[in-house]
Amino acid sequence: MRIAIVGVGVAGGVIATGLAGLPGVQVLGFERVGPEDHAVAGNGLNVGPNALLALDRALPSLAARLREASLPWRQWRAATVTGEPLYEVALPSVAASDGLRIRWAELYRACREGVSASVRYQATLASVERPSDGGPLALTVVRPDGERLRVGDIDLLVAADGRYSAVRETLCGAPSITHLGVANFRVLLRDDGAWPIDDLEQWFNGPHRLLAFRLRDGLVYLSGNLPIGVGQAIPEEQRGADWLERCFTPLAGAMTPVARELLAGACRAARAGELHWSRLQEIDVRWRDDGGRVLYPGDAGHAMVPTLGQGATTAIEDGAVFVEMVRQALAQGWDAPTLLARFEARRRDRIDFIRAFSWEASDVILADRFSLDGVRAKGAPPYCEKLRRLYEPG
Ligand SMILES: Cc1cc2nc3c(=O)[nH]c(=O)nc-3n(C[C@H](O)[C@H](O)[C@H](O)COP(=O)(O)OP(=O)(O)OC[C@H]3O[C@@H](n4cnc5c(N)ncnc54)[C@H](O)[C@@H]3O)c2cc1C
Repeated sequence: MRIAIVGVGVAGGVIATGLAGLPGVQVLGFERVGPEDHAVAGNGLNVGPNALLALDRALPSLAARLREASLPWRQWRAATVTGEPLYEVALPSVAASDGLRIRWAELYRACREGVSASVRYQATLASVERPSDGGPLALTVVRPDGERLRVGDIDLLVAADGRYSAVRETLCGAPSITHLGVANFRVLLRDDGAWPIDDLEQWFNGPHRLLAFRLRDGLVYLSGNLPIGVGQAIPEEQRGADWLERCFTPLAGAMTPVARELLAGACRAARAGELHWSRLQEIDVRWRDDGGRVLYPGDAGHAMVPTLGQGATTAIEDGAVFVEMVRQALAQGWDAPTLLARFEARRRDRIDFIRAFSWEASDVILADRFSLDGVRAKGAPPYCEKLRRLYEPG
């Protein structure tokens, strides 16, 4: 089976790693950026236990590598900015593994390690040819110097090119987007271990939420949410330090020292133009093209709101399950369309559940849905039961 992978990020990297050296499979990876380009992309993320459990089963050496390059994530915890505790859930009480706290650069590095022989970097997809008889595909990539490379006889194309998938747009049209009505900023702050921050914590001032955790090397990852109009662009003034001060400073009572430090760090970064801004949104789900030879794993197929930290997590899960199913396909003699149909059947309900849960868990960062009781409910048994289902291996 000749498998092309467009986009060697999280999902593409896991799949390329898992298929490397598999007898009966030829892997051809194409990635727009250079091998280390994400090393400066800053920022961190939390990867859920479900990704690690899926990798433990399919690709234990990659799971070990990720654990080695990260810190464990073991809790959900929230308080108000004035320090009133709201809820706490220990991950070991709802999952059979810890999650991870990791820098983006480290995640990409681990996912790409060991696949350099099969990946062409700085190769951007230019076009895809899909014959009308359902036969093998061809694609063309372009290099920064304008060189074009056409690759044919592709039995299966893995479109792992992320949220703005050029493959999906070319073959199926642009996905439809649903906005949540929340802006997000992210930044890495350096405190060299000075602030009393370790595992994941959140601080609420109404629906305005700060979320932070420690990473390696004296860094703290900070993310903040602010409600905006649904579908509205983030107003320029709301990206500024004065606006952040107003949103996160409580009307009554003093901020806890740690929340104050984080807010001060966010304001410094805002003044220096170092906050990364985005709007929380999801796209409609698409697993494969009509011809059955193109797969859309990760964000290309089901980008979701990041409230539960499940975007990269489910991209890893998709990758791990796909690797297992390619092994099975080779053993059973399935062709590419059969493999993709079975993959979709296995993943569809789970991803629908995770997307819906991520959306529902975002109620407390919406201006018209926030309540302190709503936040407290995230430590109660019904919510923990859903976390248990979320953190199954997939
Ligand atoms: C604010 C925010 C916070 C988040 N926090 C978390 C979190 O804490 N935990 C979590 O699990 N997820 C989080 N996510 C989600 C996460 O970023 C994505 O879900 C994840 O990166 C998806 O992985 P992927 O492999 O599908 O796509 P990507 O990681 O985006 O990889 C796509 C790859 O394709 C390449 N590419 C793109 N176009 C082309 C092309 N035309 N030709 C060749 N290559 C191409 C790109 O360079 C890239 O390497 C967050 C997202 C946001 C917006």
